[in-house]
Amino acid sequence: MTIPKPVDNLGALQGYHSPQVDVEVRLNTNESPYPPPPEWIGDVVAEVERLAFHRYPDREASDLRAAIAANHGVGPEQVFVANGSNEVLQTLFLTYAGPGRAAAVFEPTYAMHAQIGHLTSTEVAVGERAPDFLLDLTEVKRVLDESSPSLTFVCSPNNPTGRAESRASVDEVLELAPGLVIVDEAYGQFSSWTALDLVDDDRPLVVTRTYSKTWSMAGSRLGYLVGSAEVVSALWARALPYHLDVLKQRAGVLALRYSDEMEGRIGSLVAERERIAAGLSALAVEHWPSDANFVLFRPLHRSGDEVWQALVDRSVLVRNCGSWPRLDNCLRVTVGTPSENDRFLAALSEVVA
Ligand code: PMP
Repeated sequence: MTIPKPVDNLGALQGYHSPQVDVEVRLNTNESPYPPPPEWIGDVVAEVERLAFHRYPDREASDLRAAIAANHGVGPEQVFVANGSNEVLQTLFLTYAGPGRAAAVFEPTYAMHAQIGHLTSTEVAVGERAPDFLLDLTEVKRVLDESSPSLTFVCSPNNPTGRAESRASVDEVLELAPGLVIVDEAYGQFSSWTALDLVDDDRPLVVTRTYSKTWSMAGSRLGYLVGSAEVVSALWARALPYHLDVLKQRAGVLALRYSDEMEGRIGSLVAERERIAAGLSALAVEHWPSDANFVLFRPLHRSGDEVWQALVDRSVLVRNCGSWPRLDNCLRVTVGTPSENDRFLAALSEVVA
């Protein structure tokens, strides 16, 4: 007996992951460095005793969608929810892409956009960003004219380079795109503007968001999309039945009670991000401005691999982005707690001295 060969659809990426190394300072996956508020944990524990675990959950996740919708001033019919924004992205591909259709991405950018494209046998049309890593609208037009994609990805702020696109740029992409424009705002709360205001039932634009960063809930896997009711209902028709478990649905509703506290945390993370950027300016590294909770940098006199390893040797883990398009020798550091950021800056200054 033989095991059949898997479908050959991984594309250039053989899976996507950041190696987890046992270190004291973990700044490689853009999570919040802080656990959720203890009061929220208490709320969730109380729910655990009340919930009907023997029953399937609300298939429509109505309470959660209503709570998210109220938070953004849209209707619940404009909100789709899934297990992390990665699953939201996958559902977008299952709904609007696949064989015979294309998706456009602009590198360097979040690798999962192309990766899910390959997994769903979607043609992935790849454009280049401008030298400052923002979108180059002439290039966007060229790629969209050539490939006529069903999905066009605008990652804003862009992972791993950090900057948010301007509203004018998103408007322009919307004018040019023949299909749906996805503004991936996984880091949207750290930026000074959001494309959520552009969402309208008649506009082919959706915004994806996550509970993984500012809500300190990466372990829960919860993300969502805000878009036109037509798109949301098409996505809902392709999601697996009961894809969101009962506890996660409640946890997501309860988290929104702590909006003020979470807003305060964003302020301190942004201040720490600027402190890291200032620290990097004093070292032998090139670095890029960020509107997110991470900073991309490139050592000037040592290879990225060497610096990554030397940081690990000092128990500090950052993301090695050296194998991503156009990011030779680049590393990305997530904003941590003030003491973690101190550890990072001290270790890096030793390593690049
Ligand atoms: N989009 C971007 C740009 C990201 O960086 C990430 C997380 N690394 C995600 C989406 C996925 O986030 P999650 O699935 O945790 O919601």
